[in-house]
Amino acid sequence: GQCILVCPVGALAEKNDIEEVMDYLYDPELVTVFQFAPAIRTAVGEEFGISAGTNVEGQIITALKKLGADVVLDTNFTADLVIMEEGSELLKRVKDSDPLPMFTSCCPAWVSYVEKNYPEMKEHVSTTKSPQQCFGAIAKTYLAEKMDIDAQKMRVVSIMPCTAKKGEAKRPEFTRDGRPEVDVVLTTREFARLMNREGIQLADLEPSDFDNQWMGDYSGAAVIFGTTGGVMEAAIRTVHKVVTGAELAQVEFAAVRGLENIREAEVDLGKGIGPVKLAVAHTLKAAGQLMEAVKSGEADYQFVEVMACPGGCMGGGGQPRSKHAYQASRLERQQGLYTIDKDAPVRQSHNNPLIRKLYDEYLEKPLGHKSHHLLHTTYSDRKRLVKHTMKEIWQEIEDRT
Ligand code: SF4
Repeated sequence: GQCILVCPVGALAEKNDIEEVMDYLYDPELVTVFQFAPAIRTAVGEEFGISAGTNVEGQIITALKKLGADVVLDTNFTADLVIMEEGSELLKRVKDSDPLPMFTSCCPAWVSYVEKNYPEMKEHVSTTKSPQQCFGAIAKTYLAEKMDIDAQKMRVVSIMPCTAKKGEAKRPEFTRDGRPEVDVVLTTREFARLMNREGIQLADLEPSDFDNQWMGDYSGAAVIFGTTGGVMEAAIRTVHKVVTGAELAQVEFAAVRGLENIREAEVDLGKGIGPVKLAVAHTLKAAGQLMEAVKSGEADYQFVEVMACPGGCMGGGGQPRSKHAYQASRLERQQGLYTIDKDAPVRQSHNNPLIRKLYDEYLEKPLGHKSHHLLHTTYSDRKRLVKHTMKEIWQEIEDRT
């Protein structure tokens, strides 16, 4: 906190997180487990002269191994897991007449926007934690057990597209046995700075594969979490299969693609569920408009995806500031993500074999007892908290004077 006062650009705070990662890497007692978000792989290359949209996933794995990481995994694995939980949650809400529309919860800037500005709507936010936090929770339980690692000695490091993810990792509810689920978060630019500092030239590296039989696989649906509309598209692929028993004939759900600030679509799930109205919004301005429409009853969606940054995480504040025109770079990053999805051997979260194994061997079923404990959370009314605290502060000042 003090640092922010003396250093408005946050450079010192960033340095501290890089130092913390180095401390973990140099400590022989600790086991470091890295995750990186979907949007990183088509953007970080820009810091090393690689064109926007180029998938450098394999080079990121090699770079992290060179830095001394013990285990390198992908947030995409838990993006698939989020789809299983959030999709099931949507169906439960529809069946049980629980609050609708359900809003996505992957973007912490959006979640805190609701808590501060629309606390009366917090029951509408999916209780499923974000992929980053699900990763921490599963790594420190299931993975630790499978790899025979003492969870207390495990340090989970994330590479994320924004500083909002740092705030999310620090939420007190996201702790396990006295330690955070995610120990430290670096932004994409901080990660690039760390590589530069350690003399790692990403562009020169040979790509490596994820090498983990428990969390080392992901579907095409997971990778599009990095663009606006991606969570919605991924969820529809799975919800359709769960309800109808059949895969969507057209995997790509074009109605939610694009870059308009608010996009609407409808999907017919038949079998007692019927048509489901969907909306996708990016930027908090668009989200605010959408929230007002929902509150006034003007809009009757069942499922709404919101991402705070323009374009979603690919346009996150911690991403490289490209030397190209900004918009062009965003479109290239987005195209890169859609290409990875298109070429993926498995394109639906429920068909990720390691997600099936995780449920078979550990979680049992979506929304089950273990899932509830590890993968779901609740939200707070932070408006009241702020008002109350300010009132207290003024009261104290008055009392003193
Ligand atoms: Fe972070 Fe922006 Fe993605 Fe939200 S949309 S998680 S603020 S990068």
